[in-house]
Amino acid sequence: MPVIKQLFKQNEEWAARTSDADPEFFDNLSEQQSPEYLWIGCSDSRVPANQIVGLLPGEVFVHRNIANVVVHTDLNCLSVIQYAVEVLKVKHIMVVGHYGCGGVKAAMGNESFGLIDNWLRHIKDVYRAHKARIEAIEDTDKRFNLMCELNVREQVANVCHTTIVQNAWRSGQELSVHGWIYGLDNGLIRDMKVTVSGVDDISRIYSMDGAE
Ligand SMILES: [Zn+2]
Repeated sequence: MPVIKQLFKQNEEWAARTSDADPEFFDNLSEQQSPEYLWIGCSDSRVPANQIVGLLPGEVFVHRNIANVVVHTDLNCLSVIQYAVEVLKVKHIMVVGHYGCGGVKAAMGNESFGLIDNWLRHIKDVYRAHKARIEAIEDTDKRFNLMCELNVREQVANVCHTTIVQNAWRSGQELSVHGWIYGLDNGLIRDMKVTVSGVDDISRIYSMDGAE
């Protein structure tokens, strides 16, 4: 059987299994979605959002791009955050990086990969901001791990700096932004303990008083 056809077969089997387990499942799901979580993660095929945290369809809103980068002018990511916060009213946004991230690794080198170099430049900015701390580490694996972690921290800050998240906090909406990192080698997520739950926790320079 051609490989693509196999996917349709697997889909039919999955739909049948899911309906058998819960005959109302698809009826309920097609009515509405009310996820409490927005997951901003890496496109890496080894980091599937729902599966890792054991959530079903309908339970997590997902945005993925290479190296889980949140860029202030990225209409795609900003639209996902705006819809998730203002319409779905998610209570948690998690930026989920992972060790061994190819995007982070590429950004740490000088090889050109084409158009994507422009995207990875945002991660080079993270490197530049923390250059002394990174270059103080001799071991290249440890350096790489630290960069994966620092990238998560920076992207958590970028989420918090959006006017969308600031407006939500100023209007009293319950919303926390978390930074997590996933280990490809053990399947475990680690909370980096950089959770931000209010506008008082962000740098003053990014604070927009009465932002609209
Ligand atoms: Zn990655």
